[in-house]
Amino acid sequence: MRIKALPALLLALLMLASCHGPELPPDTGAADTGDTRDTADTAGDTLPDTAPDTTADTTPDTAPAATEPELTLTGDGVIVDGLRLAVWESDGRKYIAESALERAFGRSFEGEGVTARGEKYLPYPETTDPVDCLRLTDPEDGTVYLSPRGSYEIPEDRKVAVLMYHAVGDRPWGLIDLFVRPADLEEQIEYILDNGYDPIWFSDLGHMEDYDKPVILTFDDGYDNNYTELYPILQKYGVKATIFVITDKVDDDRYLTREQIGEMAASGLVSIESHTVTHPDLRVLGEDELEYEYSQSRMDIARMTGRIPTVVCYPSGEHDVLARRVAAEYYKLGIKMTGGVWSTSSDPMRVNRFFVPRDLTLAEFRGKLRYVDP
Ligand SMILES: [Zn+2]
Repeated sequence: MRIKALPALLLALLMLASCHGPELPPDTGAADTGDTRDTADTAGDTLPDTAPDTTADTTPDTAPAATEPELTLTGDGVIVDGLRLAVWESDGRKYIAESALERAFGRSFEGEGVTARGEKYLPYPETTDPVDCLRLTDPEDGTVYLSPRGSYEIPEDRKVAVLMYHAVGDRPWGLIDLFVRPADLEEQIEYILDNGYDPIWFSDLGHMEDYDKPVILTFDDGYDNNYTELYPILQKYGVKATIFVITDKVDDDRYLTREQIGEMAASGLVSIESHTVTHPDLRVLGEDELEYEYSQSRMDIARMTGRIPTVVCYPSGEHDVLARRVAAEYYKLGIKMTGGVWSTSSDPMRVNRFFVPRDLTLAEFRGKLRYVDP
């Protein structure tokens, strides 16, 4: 079919224009991605391979060079257990660098991709969709949170001592029993380490074969002394702990700040889990209110830490059938205040704990742990 002169001219102009391709993104976007390879060296040196270059090219064509797609950085947010990945676009398809995926997921990926600047890129979300992991999308900005760590299975018939603390400090400003002295906490941690116990996170339940005597240290409410007093002790001994934060209290006087929470979560020592948004008595809430307390606190924590929480601690240990049923829609485990040693075969929405009050002696502490001995 014969193309009339004017449209043909327009078409030619369009093709010429397209040869110069889309604008490259500013380099700033890559700064917070943790990806170091990205945009810096590409400015202006590549042409899109979609249309033949019709401008006069006098370079002798000695060997046919492999055509490279031009990748542009998108604004998409994809965060895998705290690690932000850069998402690239070419020809309407999205990609993530293979090396970034392997680093984030700790495994290799098969599949067809594209190569640019000596780096292989795999299609997104096709590559991550089949991966076994927990997923959460932020309804406000579309950020996608993926958590391979959050997809753990809870083993049968293991005994775990889950220890309950709140504040850490020599001078209590609230209920005295809720303030463990830093020196006492150190003594307890030394006992744990000297006697072969393994301080783990709930997400470590997925590989319990690695632990003979698992212990979980938990701290409720998210007080600021968890950063000033507890965190240095965890760093000193290299011990893991779990902090249940009330997300509405973050940045309030005497509570942790968003920055402190982010720093501790990134340290590899602290797992931040949910203690709801407002710390209500869950037994008086309706289903909608329960859904808000569970889902909003989960979203808040994902935004602060880049990690999806999988555990909720019932405020003041109060719960009922409805509170547990709705909790199970959002979390793997629901944590009580009492009950003693936890058997992993029991109801996952009624996890027992031991309270460690301020004046507990080391002999009493030892007594709580001995149920775990295999
Ligand atoms: Zn509480």
